[in-house]
Order: sequence, then C-alpha cells, then structure tokens
Amino acid sequence: MFNLILFGPPGSGKGTQSEKIIEKFNLVHLSTGDLLRSQIAQQTPLGLEAKKLMDKGHLVPDEVVVGMISSALDANTSAKGFLFDGFPRTAAQALALDNLLELKQAPISVMLALDVSEEELVKRLIKRGETSGRTDDVNEEIIAARVLEYKTKTEAVADYYRQYNKVVIVAGEGSVNEIFERLGAEIESRL
Ligand code: ADP
Repeated sequence: MFNLILFGPPGSGKGTQSEKIIEKFNLVHLSTGDLLRSQIAQQTPLGLEAKKLMDKGHLVPDEVVVGMISSALDANTSAKGFLFDGFPRTAAQALALDNLLELKQAPISVMLALDVSEEELVKRLIKRGETSGRTDDVNEEIIAARVLEYKTKTEAVADYYRQYNKVVIVAGEGSVNEIFERLGAEIESRL
C-alpha cells in the first residue's frame, strides 16, 4: 500500500493536484473537505453542524473528521493506497491517522507539502469563490479565518511528520502541469 498526504494551506492547489495524482497512480482520494460538503449537500445532521463552522472558516471537531476517515478506510479495503487531502489538519488528527494506519500496517510514505506565497493564496481563493459556489471562499474575512486556523493548528502537522523525516516541500506556483510534474517525480521515487 502507498499512502500519501498532500499538504498545504487553503488555496494551495491540493484539490486540483489530487485529481491528477489519483488518476495517474491509482490511489483512492480522501478529502475531508469533499466528504463534509457531501454531508452538507445531503443535509445530514453532521453536515448541518459542520456547515456552521465551515462558513466561519473554523475547523470541524477532530472526532467528526477522524470518524469520517475511519469509515472511508473501512469502505475501501481493496485500495492500492490512499491520498489524504485536507487531512490531517491538527496534531491530534495526525496521531489518530497513524493509529488507524497501523492497524492496516500501511503507514504514511510521504507528506508532500505545497509551498505557495500568501499573496498568491488569497488571489486564488477569491477567484475560486467567483465560480465554485463555495460559501467559504466569498470574502476575505472568512479566508483570513481559515489561514489563521492553518497557522495556529495545521502547521503543527508538518512538524509531526518532520520528526519521522516524511516531509518534502514542493514549489506550488507555476502551471498546474509543472506542479504535477514535481509531485509526480516525488511519488515515483518512493513507489
Ligand atoms: P481548503 O483547504 O481550501 O480550505 P477544504 O475543502 O480542505 O478546503 O476544507 C474546507 C473546510 O472544511 C475547512 O475550512 C474546515 O472548516 C473543514 N475541514 C476540512 N477538512 C478538515 C479537517 N481535517 N479537520 C477539520 N476541519 C476540516
């Protein structure tokens, strides 16, 4: 099994690159943002609670996202590997993921961390908000709250994997294909 985390701040291109990576390397894409938006679309109680937090730019509680990931792992027993996108986002989520993967004897191989300047991030998010219909991309205040959550809670996840030498920083600016080439080379060298 080959398990990979695609890491980076909101707007760093995780979703776009994930689509290309899973197709080329035949991995199962687990995006907690997508899983949550699907719960919102189905108007489940979990989705309705999560939406309140997401619309303020806050993180959803660890238990909620860990539960969703745990179910998704169980639902994909024949996967060749998983690409985690937008998860883990806190140190507690990283620990929980390691415990879940230990049961499968399939640890995280690498965390690829997309590096994008803050100026470029805000520009991309505002642009995405014009077409995506995502209620958390529409104004700078919500975006600023997401960036703050990233800095105060999520950056620690990179420190967590750094202690196991699993973090590789990848330049996240340039064309979609250029960035994909860089990510693909890192993956290929570890398969
Ligand atoms: P982005 O990375 O561009 O902000 P996502 O789709 O990954 O977009 O996440 C959107 C929102 O969903 C986050 O701002 C947060 O509220 C919630 N969310 C997604 N993943 C997690 C997670 N692992 N832990 C807590 N909240 C999450």
